[in-house]
Amino acid sequence: MNKHVTFDAQAALGFVRSQTTHVETAVNETVYPDIQYPGLVPVDTSAHPFAQTVTYYSSDKFGRADWINGNADDIPLAGTELAEFKTSVYTAAIGYGWGWEEVNVAMTIGRNLQADDALARQAGIACERGVLVDEYCRTSAPDVLAAGDVAVARPAGGGGPIRLESWQNAQDQGAAAALSALDAGQPYLPSGAVWSEQYEAMVQIAGFPARAGREVLRPQADARALLSVALDEDGRVIGAVAVNAARELRQLRQWIAQGTRVDPVQLARADAPLSSARIG
Ligand SMILES: Cc1cc2nc3c(=O)[nH]c(=O)nc-3n(C[C@H](O)[C@H](O)[C@H](O)COP(=O)(O)OP(=O)(O)OC[C@H]3O[C@@H](n4cnc5c(N)ncnc54)[C@H](O)[C@@H]3O)c2cc1C
Repeated sequence: MNKHVTFDAQAALGFVRSQTTHVETAVNETVYPDIQYPGLVPVDTSAHPFAQTVTYYSSDKFGRADWINGNADDIPLAGTELAEFKTSVYTAAIGYGWGWEEVNVAMTIGRNLQADDALARQAGIACERGVLVDEYCRTSAPDVLAAGDVAVARPAGGGGPIRLESWQNAQDQGAAAALSALDAGQPYLPSGAVWSEQYEAMVQIAGFPARAGREVLRPQADARALLSVALDEDGRVIGAVAVNAARELRQLRQWIAQGTRVDPVQLARADAPLSSARIG
């Protein structure tokens, strides 16, 4: 068993916080009232955490003797009552932006969760939560290039500097930096492509969905599949998020590259092929 493995939020917070280069002493603290809930509501953890319902019974015994006439046929009765109640179980959670696995993997291998640009800063290279690069992967220092997780680029289409943490970007930008070093560089335009296998789900992102003006969900035949298409104000496809929908994502990738406009109504029709959504 790995002694570093942490499941506790406070311990994880300590690790995450310790990576900041400088921690200011607190200057203002919002004081919230104490949480009364645990004192008022008894908590019973005897059920299995993944039970879907909890059934409980409420029983009562009733009856009271009274004076009767010897020939009475209305003798007060005694009896028992039993009522059954069923409560559904819901899951509540709170956590940090980094996953439990990410925090523990980073602790195990001694890696920072944030881009570590300390060396570059010490060398006087311009950094903005990562090493700033231009479209040729050049930093502010002559003959020093940066690519991958540590590099922060200003995207060609405008917007603030972005740092992409994905395997695909590390590979593509690394290749672009190598060509740049050989004076054969082309302006590097990140595709935004990310893929990740999460158990049976293949999650893929193309383009930059976060910049979308609107999102259209395209129905999928497979209940475990999802396809979200991101459009700009003019109806051009600028991004997509797919779960187990690789085939249609391939088409969308081409449309993102070509700036294709689509009809959102057609796009959302389960009975219409994806190609029919294209305008022009
Ligand atoms: C838990 C986890 C899960 C992930 N899952 C996915 C995923 O599903 N899909 C996806 O696309 N991406 C995923 N990523 C992100 C992906 O792994 C990274 O974006 C990618 O590896 C970045 O490559 P890189 O070459 O820029 O940096 P790195 O792979 O971090 O390589 C940097 C190298 O530089 C070395 N180094 C650092 N400082 C120094 C120094 N001073 N001197 C010498 N060497 C140094 C490091 O040891 C390291 O080997 C995941 C990352 C983590 C941590």
